[in-house]
Amino acid sequence: MRHADPDIVIVGAGIAGGALGTVLARAGFGVTLLERESSYPDRVRGEFMAPWGVTELAKLALLQPLREAGAVFTRRNIPYDENFAPAEAEARALDLTRMHPEALGALCLGHPATCAVFAQLATAAGATFLRGAGDISVISGSRPLVSCTHDGTKVEFRPRLVIGADGRNSSLRKELGFTVNADQPRNLLGGMLVKGVPSWPRDVQVIGVEDRFHFLVFPQGDDLLRLYGSYHFADKSRFDGPTRRAKLIEAFGKLTCLPYAEAIAASTPIGPFNAFSNEDHWIDDPTCPGVALIGDAAGHNDPIIGQGLSIALRDVRLVSELLRDAKAAGQEPDFRPYVEERAERMRRLRITAQVATTLRVEFGPQARERRARAGKRMAAGQLAPLPASLIGPERLPAEAFLPETIERLLES
Ligand SMILES: Cc1cc2nc3c(=O)[nH]c(=O)nc-3n(C[C@H](O)[C@H](O)[C@H](O)COP(=O)(O)OP(=O)(O)OC[C@H]3O[C@@H](n4cnc5c(N)ncnc54)[C@H](O)[C@@H]3O)c2cc1C
Repeated sequence: MRHADPDIVIVGAGIAGGALGTVLARAGFGVTLLERESSYPDRVRGEFMAPWGVTELAKLALLQPLREAGAVFTRRNIPYDENFAPAEAEARALDLTRMHPEALGALCLGHPATCAVFAQLATAAGATFLRGAGDISVISGSRPLVSCTHDGTKVEFRPRLVIGADGRNSSLRKELGFTVNADQPRNLLGGMLVKGVPSWPRDVQVIGVEDRFHFLVFPQGDDLLRLYGSYHFADKSRFDGPTRRAKLIEAFGKLTCLPYAEAIAASTPIGPFNAFSNEDHWIDDPTCPGVALIGDAAGHNDPIIGQGLSIALRDVRLVSELLRDAKAAGQEPDFRPYVEERAERMRRLRITAQVATTLRVEFGPQARERRARAGKRMAAGQLAPLPASLIGPERLPAEAFLPETIERLLES
C-alpha cells in the first residue's frame, strides 16, 4: 500500500524521534513516525536530564509538557562518598539551578513517560504516527524509499528525507552500512525503579562512590527513585541472577556514606533491573543521501555521565533549524553544520566520560585519594572537563579537554 508521501519519515519515535516529529510537524512539515513498539516499556535508560538538556527542551518549546506530565527538578547534587562524612558532602553540594537561564536544575522523568508525551505532542501537531511498525527498510538516495509492515500490510513511502532515530542498536544504521567507532567496554551500569522512599528530598540527586560501587540516585515523582549502580565486570555476579533486584537494593542499603540508605533498603522494585556495558560509540558522518541519523542511532556517549537525552535534544534542535532554514530558502538541507558540531560535541563528552570513569569507577585506596584530590582541585576552580556534563560541552574552553589538563587534574 502506498501512503501519501510525507516530507519526512522518522524511524523510531523515542526521545529523539518523538521530539523531532513534534517540532517539525509544528513547523508545517508533513511527518510520518514509524515506531516498533505499541507502548513504551521500561528499558532502564534516561531518567536524568542535565541542565543543558533542559535548556534545549525550553528552546524547542517541549519543557512545559514534561512539567505537566510530572517531571521533578533536582536543584542540588550531593556527592555522598566514602571520602567524607555526610555533613561534609552536603556542604559540598552543587547548585544545579545556576547552570542555565531558566534556573530549574536537572529534570527527572521516566524514559517511557517522556517518550509517551512526545508521541502525543507529535500526533497533536499533525504527524502521522504508526505504532507497531515492523520490517522497516530504507533505500537511500535523493528520494529515499521506505518500506515497512503495519497492521499486517506492507506500506511504502517516498519522502524527501528519512531520519534514523531508532536508538543505540539502530537497524537502519546497519542496513545503510554506516561505520560505527567504539572504544573498549569500561564497566557495567545497571538501573532500576523503586517505590516507597517518601523521605528522599525530591530536589536532591546523588552521585557517589563507596567500596567497589559507584552509585547514583535520581528522584522521580511521588515516592519513586531511580537507582543506578556502576561496577566492574569482575563484580558482575554480585548483581546477577534471578535475585538481582534484591541484590541492587541490598547494595544501596549497605552504603554507610548515604543517609536514606535504610529507607532505600526498605523500598520495593517496580521495574526490571537491567545492566549495560559502558563505552562510547560514534560515527564520523551520520548522514548519507536522503538520510540523517540522530540521537543514539548517530552514536551514543557512555551513559556513566547521563548525557544521552541532552544529546538527542541538541540533535533535534540543530536538525530542525537546518530543515526550517532550507525550506524557507527553497533549498535542499545541508547537514554539514550538524555533522561538525556533533563530532566535536561527542569528542568532548567522550573525554568527559573517560575522566568520570577514572574518578568514579576505579576503586581502591589510590583511586579514592585521587578522587579526593581531583574534587578539591575542581572546587578550587581548576579547569576540568567534568562540568561539560552539566553546562554543555561547548561552554568550556577547548583546553579543558586537553591531555595535559586532565593530567594536572589527576596527578598525585
Ligand atoms: C543504563 C542507561 C542509563 C541511561 N541514563 C541516562 C540518563 O540518566 N540521562 C541521559 O540523558 N541519558 C541516559 N541514557 C541514555 C539515553 O537513554 C539515550 O541516549 C536516549 O534514550 C536516546 O534517545 P533516542 O531517541 O536516540 O533512543 P531511544 O530513546 O532508545 O528511542 C529509540 C526508539 O526507536 C524505537 N525503535 C528501535 N528499533 C526500531 C526499529 N527497528 N523500528 C522502529 N522503531 C524502532 C524504540 O522502540 C524507541 O522508541 C542512559 C542509557 C542507558 C543504557
